[in-house]
Amino acid sequence: MRIEVENDAIRARKKQEYEDLVSEMDAKGYEARIEKINIVTANVFAMVLFVIVGAITFGINYTIRGNLFGDFFGGMNMYLWYLLFFVFYFLSIFVHEFIHGFFWHFPCEKKWGSIDFGLNVKMLTPYCHCREALNRKVYVFGAFAPTFFLGIIPIIIGLIINSYFVMLFGVIGFIGGAGDLMVIWTLRKHKDCMLFDHPYEVGYAYFVRKTGTEE
Ligand SMILES: [Zn+2]
Repeated sequence: MRIEVENDAIRARKKQEYEDLVSEMDAKGYEARIEKINIVTANVFAMVLFVIVGAITFGINYTIRGNLFGDFFGGMNMYLWYLLFFVFYFLSIFVHEFIHGFFWHFPCEKKWGSIDFGLNVKMLTPYCHCREALNRKVYVFGAFAPTFFLGIIPIIIGLIINSYFVMLFGVIGFIGGAGDLMVIWTLRKHKDCMLFDHPYEVGYAYFVRKTGTEE
């Protein structure tokens, strides 16, 4: 496992590692193709998702309890509520990346040795980068896991225990997985291939057999 703050040297190293993988896969008879994710589309998708997931969550809550935002702060001081929410949200950004790494390390040959956690200074976002190409099934599992554990599970728990804090945490956690969901959505086109997070493009590379098509 490497933990790093991304800089030019690290970017160059990742590019090199990617090129090494491409030539290694080339020798095995695979060629690399790139699937890019459009950042504007991703942001619009995140906003739409926020409205949909929020409407579903609070709609269910309304159906169960008959009021929309009954006791929103649950008896807690409002400022403390906001402060705690911000702290939990901030921590969840890192937990999100950890969950990716946790689920991706199992199928890796070098286990944690192939997982990097870093901070993209320009975008101020932490990332998880796996240095091995993974097959679609395990890739999807690891890509979806943070949305499940930080989105779906808190929403369900929040609804059960009647906590707007936990519900909203789940809605925001779900939105945090918007990019991952977009990636998963694009994967329906690439059934039998190995996937690799692209080192500098927003998106991933996938390896397909040079002869014939990927299907
Ligand atoms: Zn993610």
